[in-house]
Amino acid sequence: MTLALGDLAFLFHDADHGEKKGTPMTIKLCVPRIFGCAVIAGLMLLGSTFVHAQSSPAATAQLQAGGSQVQLEGELEILFQDLKDGHGRVLYSLKQADGSRVPLQFLKNPPTHLLTGDHVRVSGPRSSGGLILYSGSTNLSKTTGGGSTATITPSIPVPNTFGAQSVLVILVNFQDDPIQPYTVTDAQNYFFVSANNFIQENSYGQTSLTGAVVGWYTIPDSVTTCNTSQIATDAQNAAVAAGVNLANYTRYVYAFPQNNACGFGGASNVGGNPSQSWINGTTGPGGVSLDTHVIDHELGHAFGLWHSHLYDCGTTATICSTPSIDEYGDLLDTMGVPQTASAHYNAFQKERLGWLNYGASPSIQTVQTSGTYTINPYELGGVGTNALKVIKSTDSVTGAKTWYYLEARQAVGFDAFLTNSTYYTQNESNGVLIHVGTDGNGNASDLLDMTPATPTSNGWFDPALAVGQSFQDAAAGVTFTTESVTSSGGSVSIQFSGAGSGTLSTAALTVATDQTIYVPGQTVSMMATASSGGTPVANVSVSFAVTKANGSQVTGSAKTGRNGIAIYKIRLRQTDPPGTYIAGANTTIKGKVLNAATQFLLQ
Ligand SMILES: [Zn+2]
Repeated sequence: MTLALGDLAFLFHDADHGEKKGTPMTIKLCVPRIFGCAVIAGLMLLGSTFVHAQSSPAATAQLQAGGSQVQLEGELEILFQDLKDGHGRVLYSLKQADGSRVPLQFLKNPPTHLLTGDHVRVSGPRSSGGLILYSGSTNLSKTTGGGSTATITPSIPVPNTFGAQSVLVILVNFQDDPIQPYTVTDAQNYFFVSANNFIQENSYGQTSLTGAVVGWYTIPDSVTTCNTSQIATDAQNAAVAAGVNLANYTRYVYAFPQNNACGFGGASNVGGNPSQSWINGTTGPGGVSLDTHVIDHELGHAFGLWHSHLYDCGTTATICSTPSIDEYGDLLDTMGVPQTASAHYNAFQKERLGWLNYGASPSIQTVQTSGTYTINPYELGGVGTNALKVIKSTDSVTGAKTWYYLEARQAVGFDAFLTNSTYYTQNESNGVLIHVGTDGNGNASDLLDMTPATPTSNGWFDPALAVGQSFQDAAAGVTFTTESVTSSGGSVSIQFSGAGSGTLSTAALTVATDQTIYVPGQTVSMMATASSGGTPVANVSVSFAVTKANGSQVTGSAKTGRNGIAIYKIRLRQTDPPGTYIAGANTTIKGKVLNAATQFLLQ
C-alpha cells in the first residue's frame, strides 16, 4: 500500500493575526522572508502558532473505539514542509521494508526525540489514511531493527554532523514545464560557497559541504502536482541514468523550478542517512532563483533540527504557564525566520548538533552556583565558554530537564545583519540572548522575550536582556543580570536563591521495572530508588504512575525502606492495549522534586 502524504499533518498556522506583538499595520517596510517569497504583508509569520491535528474528533473516536489494532515496523520518516505563505507542517510516516509508506497520525506528543531513518515499531488502529497513534511515547518504540526496545532518550549530538558532508544536488524540471531557471554554476555557488560558508562558520570550522550539482534532468512528473517522494525517486533515477553514483553522497537535495502545487519553499526530512531535502524555485523581483535562507534552513532540518520558536506570554511577562509558541518566531536563528539573512543556529540547536559542548567544540558551561560568568562572542567560538546553561525545571512525568541557554551575540560573520536597523534594534548585540530548551526534545527551542512590554512596532526585534537589566524566574530560584556586553564577549551575574533547582542537588531518584517486555496477566514490579549524596533515603513517599499505550493512567504510592527502595506492583489485564507503557516515579527529597521514568512493552 502506498499512501500519499498530505492529509495527515500537524499544521502550523497563523492563529493570532493582529495580536499585540505582530500588528501588521505598524510595521515599517517589513518584508519578512518567508521560504522563498518576500511578501510585504506585515508580520504574518509572527502570529504563526503550532497547532496539532490532535483535535480531530474522528481520529479520537476511532482510537477510543479501538478498532483493529495493528503493529507495524519500519523506518520513521519525519518531513517538514515550510510553506511560502508562512505556514508549515510536519508529516510523519512509516517506511516499510517494501518501500511503501504508511502515514502516522499522532493524537498527542508526536515523536520529537527521534530522527528520520530510526527503526521503530508502531501500534494503533488503522484509519483510511494510515495509522492512528495515541502518542509518540506510548504507541511508538525505537527498535534496533531486530525487535528489542531501546531507550527513549536520544543521543546528543545527533549523528553525521561533523566533517565534510557529501551533498548531491539534483536539478530537475517537469515534463510539462522543462525550464532551467538557473544554471548549474548558480546552484554550485548557492550550495558549495554560500551554504558551505554558513555551515563552516556555525560549526566553528568543523563541518563543511562538498559534493556535486547534477542536471538539469526532466522527470516524468507534472508541474501541476506535488508528490515529494515521487520527485525524489524520479530525480534519483534520472541521476543514475546519467551515470551518477548515489552511494558517493550522504545528503540528497532535489531542486526544481517553481512548482505552485508544492506550497512549500523548501521541505526536508529531519535527519536521515542519506538525508533528503526539496528546494522549490521562487519568483522574486530578480526573476526565478534559489534562496539562501531556504537552503540554510532546509539543511538545518537535514542535519537534525526542528524549528526555533518564540515563547509568547503577552505584554506583561517573559515566562508563564501557558505561553503561545510561535513556530517560526525566533528572528535570530535560521531555524526560525530571521530577516534579511541567515542567522546562526542558537546554542540549544548547536548543542544538539554537537557544534557546541561536545568533543573539540566550544563549551557550554552549566552554572550551578551564584557568581558572575563570562562568555565569548557567540559567533567566534575559541577558548573559553560560548554559552551558559542553567536548569529551569524538570518535567514531572518524563524527568526531562529544561534549561536556560544564554548567548552574547555580536554583529559578526553571518550575524552581521544585526546592524540592520530596519529590522533589528541593536538590543540583540548589547544584551544577552536567552533561550529555553529541553533535553531529548528536538522541538523545544524557544526564544524568550526579555522586553515583553516594548511597543508593537518593535515586535520581537529586541528580545535580549540589556546591560543592567535583570530577569528573575522565581520558580526556578534564579536571577540573571547582564553586566556587560562588548565585541569581546558578555558578562552576566547569575544568582540562585532559596531551594531553587538551579543548584543541581545530589539527591537522585531512579526507577526500573523487573522486565522490559510483558504479556497480559503478568505483574509489573516497579522499583524506585531514592538517594542523596549517594546514600539511600529511607521513609519517603514515592508516587508511581503507569501510562498505558492508550493514554490512561494507573497511579499509586509506596514508601522507601532503609535501603532507599520503594516497590509498586500492577497486574496487566487481558484488556490492556498492547504497546509501550511509561512507568514514572516522583518524590521530594529535602525540598527538591525528583522525577524518573522508564518504559516497558506490553505484547
Ligand atoms: Zn522548516
